[in-house]
Amino acid sequence: MSKESKNALKYDLVIIGAGPAGLAAGIYAARGGLKTVIFERGLVGGQIVTTADVDNYPGFEETINGFDLVEKMKKQAERFKAEFRNEEVTAISLEGICKIVETDTATYRTKAIIFATGANPRKLAVPGEERLTGRGVSYCATCDGAFYREKVVAVVGGGDSAVEEAIFLTNFAKKVYIIHRRDQLRAVHAVQQRAFKNPKIEVIWDTVVHSIEGDEQLEKLVLFNRVKDKISMLPVDGVFIYVGTIPNNQLVESRIELDSSGFVITGGDMQTNIPGVYAAGDLVHKVLRQVVTAVSDGATAAFSAEKWIQQNMEYFNEENELVLK
Ligand code: NAP
Repeated sequence: MSKESKNALKYDLVIIGAGPAGLAAGIYAARGGLKTVIFERGLVGGQIVTTADVDNYPGFEETINGFDLVEKMKKQAERFKAEFRNEEVTAISLEGICKIVETDTATYRTKAIIFATGANPRKLAVPGEERLTGRGVSYCATCDGAFYREKVVAVVGGGDSAVEEAIFLTNFAKKVYIIHRRDQLRAVHAVQQRAFKNPKIEVIWDTVVHSIEGDEQLEKLVLFNRVKDKISMLPVDGVFIYVGTIPNNQLVESRIELDSSGFVITGGDMQTNIPGVYAAGDLVHKVLRQVVTAVSDGATAAFSAEKWIQQNMEYFNEENELVLK
């Protein structure tokens, strides 16, 4: 910690990340009386901001736009006096009872921390992918699917996301290829059956994308069939990549216990292996990454942080420093 200062700003709870998990944590913590600050380096809302329609978040009979949903959450958190700061957290000290958080502009002392930094789509890391992103290469069918009416698109991946989004894309595209590296999909059986029954969907098995080609706009995929050891070309107007998610764990790796994929391991109370340090949302090891599970994590983490602070209050002085007994 380079510039820990006596002038550090003091909070009961620091929340890092203002997606649905961080926002729900902010609502619960601030409403519970904790002096709470939420840091976000980008847009408030996280990944859900780029989702056109959220259909499965309870409480909305009609579908709700992802941006509108998080705006409501943010206003609700502000109503309870949670503070928002558009600052990037650059360093953290979790040693000792008081945690120190440095951002690009200030230093903060806090009793507890909730990490809600989310996750991002995994890239294929093949030639052409980065250059043609936004020009035919997409990671969000709900955002970009409508651009491909009566066009030919491909989805890469064989998990629930890939297969569900392929089915969704048949609302627009005239043909949807699913390109999967094995001879069996990973998606749950019911979703697979829906895809197999859809006449617009064709699965290309045992195949990986070798490169993505086009001048200004995506024109074709160069594919490699791993069983036949054969290269082929697939002309497409769009490709949607759904090969999993990567946790944004840069701030916590090497300090907090992670699973083999880099997601944070928590207990049912969302506490990590460090007392007073919690994680919530897509960053966490779990089976379902949805808004509804993110807000559940956030609420639980805030509730647990509040209880932990209460139980340890005697160890903090007014500077949020450890009081030795
Ligand atoms: P996932 O289950 O990890 O699937 C990723 C897919 O991408 C796998 O089929 C994998 O192939 C493939 N893949 C990975 N790296 C690749 C590469 N470099 N090249 C080609 N293919 C690659 O990820 P997900 O589909 O995003 O789902 C994540 C979690 O969210 C899962 O637990 C899922 O059940 C859940 N989810 C739930 C819902 C729902 O409940 N409605 C919807 C979406 C997702 P292999 O199969 O060969 O490993």
